[in-house]
Amino acid sequence: MIDYFDLEASLTQEERLLVDSARSFVEGEVDDMGEHWIEGTFPTELIPKMGEMGFYAPNLEGYGLPGVSETSYGLLMRELEACDSGLRSMASVQGALVMYPIHAFGSDEQKEEWLPALGEGEAVGCFGLTEPEHGSNPSAMETRAEKDGDEYVLNGTKTWITNSPIADVAVVWAKDHSEEGTPVRGFLVETDRDGVTTNKIDEKLSLRASITGEVSLQDARIPEENRLPGVSGMKGPLSCLTQARYGIAWGAVGAAQDCFETAREYATDREQFGRPIGGFQLQQRKLAEMATQITLAQLLAHRLAELKEAGEMRPQHVSMAKRNNVRTARDQSRIAREMLGGNGITADYSPMRHMANMETVYTYEGTHDIHTLILGEDLTGLQAYQ
Ligand code: FAD
Repeated sequence: MIDYFDLEASLTQEERLLVDSARSFVEGEVDDMGEHWIEGTFPTELIPKMGEMGFYAPNLEGYGLPGVSETSYGLLMRELEACDSGLRSMASVQGALVMYPIHAFGSDEQKEEWLPALGEGEAVGCFGLTEPEHGSNPSAMETRAEKDGDEYVLNGTKTWITNSPIADVAVVWAKDHSEEGTPVRGFLVETDRDGVTTNKIDEKLSLRASITGEVSLQDARIPEENRLPGVSGMKGPLSCLTQARYGIAWGAVGAAQDCFETAREYATDREQFGRPIGGFQLQQRKLAEMATQITLAQLLAHRLAELKEAGEMRPQHVSMAKRNNVRTARDQSRIAREMLGGNGITADYSPMRHMANMETVYTYEGTHDIHTLILGEDLTGLQAYQ
């Protein structure tokens, strides 16, 4: 795939190995993502296989997790999203939104119970933050937890939750009404408990090869030991989102690269007016622009990895990279689609699928607008959300 500035020349052996094994996994194991996309299904048989490959939170350490470099992790997300955003979303949610909070904020018992099972893909997790009335402003959440003896009683509805219909456990963020100030707390909610339902959301026109649903809680009782003890307040969910957005900044590059390669190949094969369309200046301009925008996104992703590795990455750095790289993938997938003419609107080629997927990726994990406001606040010191 395109690497115009030869950024991969500086990859370590571990990083190279990870790229190669992720790519051959996608080529060998993922039969037809286009078909799954049309059917609106996720290839669930891949979940344990992705676990065997070590695709879930490999950048964490302990509990069987190898602690690979942040560049390795980013490259993995890139390779998965070059296939489909649904595949990357599976790994992102499981790793960055479920295993990360358990690893960072969980008790020893919670870590022992869940991290190996989630890491191996024997169990599936989901992350419940968004609510029907509170998306961009999750701090206004209504889901509540109330202590009753040695249990918590949870009530509320989370929506747009990736994987909830197939999840064994949900990380649910709720306001703890048994504490002064009702701080936001994280709870591990097994989805087979009484009072928990996870209805599927059908008829999505984007991210179709990913299962999305609700997590509805009606007097759902969970033991006190299911509360994540190590965090309180919005920094709990927001720190998970920083991890996942980091992966998205890399993943979007993969989707854009795949669109570019598809368009380049098509342009050199497809002939009109007696020669390959890639020989016409208008098409070359499109390829030149795509290659340039993708290279800029790659540079941002690689530098972000260096900052993360050095412990110097700020959430605002992630906002800029997520915002820019997803916009790049969204814009460039459309140009790639255009270069494929009528064939470009079929599922035989990936660009239109990536293009539709990018509508979700542009919106979830902080919309493009919200990341703009995060950057605006960082640059001016003036907050413009409210
Ligand atoms: P709203 O917040 O209602 O925003 C609507 C529009 O208003 C947007 O364009 C937004 O940018 C704009 N807007 C909002 N506030 C402002 C402002 N202050 N200034 C200017 N413009 C503003 N959530 C989870 O918790 N877990 C998941 O696993 C998950 N998976 C998802 C999977 C899919 C397929 C989708 C589509 C969403 C998923 N989400 C998930 C939810 C996602 O994070 C939210 O959709 C997102 O945060 C936006 O919230 P909203 O849809 O309520 O839009």
